[in-house]
Amino acid sequence: MKNVILKTLSKYWGYDSFRPFQEEAILSILDCKDTLTILPTGGGKSICFQVPALLCEGMVVVISPLISLMKDQVDYLKEIGINAECLNSSFTVSAQKAIIEKIQSRGLKLLYISPERLMTPDILELLRGVKISFFVIDEAHCISHWGHDFRSEYRRLGCLKDEFNQCNIHAFTATATEDVRKDIVEQLKLDSPHLYFGPIDRSNLVYRIIARSGNITGNIVNVIKKYKNEPGIIYCLRRKDVDAFSEKLNSLGYKNVPYHAGMSDEDRKRNQDEFSREKISLIVATIAFGMGIDRSNIRYVIHAAMPKSIEHYQQETGRAGRDGLPSECYMFYSWNDYKTWEYILKDSSQKNNALLKLKTLYDFCSHPQCRHKYLVSYFGQSYKENNCAACDFCLGEVEVIDNPLLIAQTIISCVAGVEEKFGADHIADILKGNNTDKVKNWGHDTLATFAKMNNETKVFIRNIIEQLVGQGYLIREGEFVTLGISDSGLKALGGEAVPTLAKPVLGQAKKEVEKKVKIKRAKDWEGVDEQLFEVLRQKRSELSQEKNVPAYIIFSDKTLKDIALKKPTTAEQFKGVFGVGEVKLNQYGGIFLNVVGDYINEVEYADKKSRA
Ligand code: ADP
Repeated sequence: MKNVILKTLSKYWGYDSFRPFQEEAILSILDCKDTLTILPTGGGKSICFQVPALLCEGMVVVISPLISLMKDQVDYLKEIGINAECLNSSFTVSAQKAIIEKIQSRGLKLLYISPERLMTPDILELLRGVKISFFVIDEAHCISHWGHDFRSEYRRLGCLKDEFNQCNIHAFTATATEDVRKDIVEQLKLDSPHLYFGPIDRSNLVYRIIARSGNITGNIVNVIKKYKNEPGIIYCLRRKDVDAFSEKLNSLGYKNVPYHAGMSDEDRKRNQDEFSREKISLIVATIAFGMGIDRSNIRYVIHAAMPKSIEHYQQETGRAGRDGLPSECYMFYSWNDYKTWEYILKDSSQKNNALLKLKTLYDFCSHPQCRHKYLVSYFGQSYKENNCAACDFCLGEVEVIDNPLLIAQTIISCVAGVEEKFGADHIADILKGNNTDKVKNWGHDTLATFAKMNNETKVFIRNIIEQLVGQGYLIREGEFVTLGISDSGLKALGGEAVPTLAKPVLGQAKKEVEKKVKIKRAKDWEGVDEQLFEVLRQKRSELSQEKNVPAYIIFSDKTLKDIALKKPTTAEQFKGVFGVGEVKLNQYGGIFLNVVGDYINEVEYADKKSRA
């Protein structure tokens, strides 16, 4: 059976090996066992059910939460020669009728559908009349109250097991904690399911989490500049921030489009299509609308503000580097983001759970530590490396402070000195020794801690206070967000608990870090003709616009990179390129071989001319 699976993978997708857990998940599905598979974004979940769909008799029904995601998947499957459709209300009546006829005539291998649509009596009736090989529940965490994207219509999927008791159900998600995993199994009534819990770590992503201060636009521009025409996403917290950033960046010459729920469907769709078809390489979007954006070659994701949970952070950063190539994730967070989310979430039906998740994320941001290790542990796995070499902490970009206890004690003593009645900004003024009116009026210039940290900048002191709040040594309380001292804070005063505190690396050290990053990129591109890569990208963009499909559906960046490395000149050689299956070879082999041929001729001609 393994041979047949591999042949199918190579024939349609042009891949010659599996990623971790794909093969196990596929074999389980073929063995008619219910499954729950957790793989990180970009881990290759789709292939886990698409390959068995081709090997089983009948049609697979894939339940997916977003129309745009369904459409992209279906377009891709059609491109590689697989019979798939999606059924949704945005189609005309006659288009829907044609798809229903295809289902009835058993001409489909995969049907993508939303949970709302699936649960309508006419669709259930239609499906009872055809052979279904199995059901797939994509983004299965939406079923759980404990999850981060609970959708009430997912809850109704529990009745699938009763309605179609002979069919197996296979649930997939990228982000599920233990509670969520249990809930998925219970709600979907999975029968002794096989659980595949793939490595959650996204080792190709570099995480950087930076306390926001000063010129955020400048920080963002520095990242964009590193990537020139390569695709990136900027996530903002509010719609008005999206509009403001988008406008500002456009005015600075960094062409981008906005994307948020306040825009008309038409504008949103147009902007998303422009991004997917590589007409534009930068999109500025709200955090809430991450799911609809899909492109496998995104090289960087910037959070201009903090998202609302670790799950969201993992999912949104997960959109970078789905093609497995190195990509960077920057988050600029602040306490204000925390407060804004707290305000937004106060009316949520899952308020307590949502606030707990928010607090956990804030702790994660403000606690200097290996980011990969934390994320992996959060989702219940262990991380073996001592140094991930792919986050601000392990790359040495944040310098751990040698005497954290002394600094923590100074700050906590100051909070005690003002009887826990003042906020972070005032505490920072006292410690810095700023003679503000407020400091003088309250007589705080006479405190023992006044000017105790006058060698540090106020920004530094504020940052350390945030770290102490994030790590639970200080608590923010009440309407006036005053700082209080927690039990851990009291322990720190007594020397029984020691926080980990860090400051940003400046000057020479920062240059060293940048040098390291550059060397890593040079290694990844070793042997690749970057000029040819650009020419190939141009061709792909033309084809994507002609065919009206996202560019990555034609070929991924990894495939283009492999072409620019191998420079194939025959169909046989082209077959050996990563990601080229039979249908793609027939459809695009000639076109891209011509591009390579023309390029080689041109370079040789230019070479001869310069030697003559
Ligand atoms: P997920 O749904 O888990 O986020 P996808 O199924 O979209 O991930 O896969 C991410 C990318 O990885 C896609 O471009 C896909 O074609 C590619 N991919 C999946 N499996 C393999 C494999 N075995 N070898 C190479 N590339 C793969």
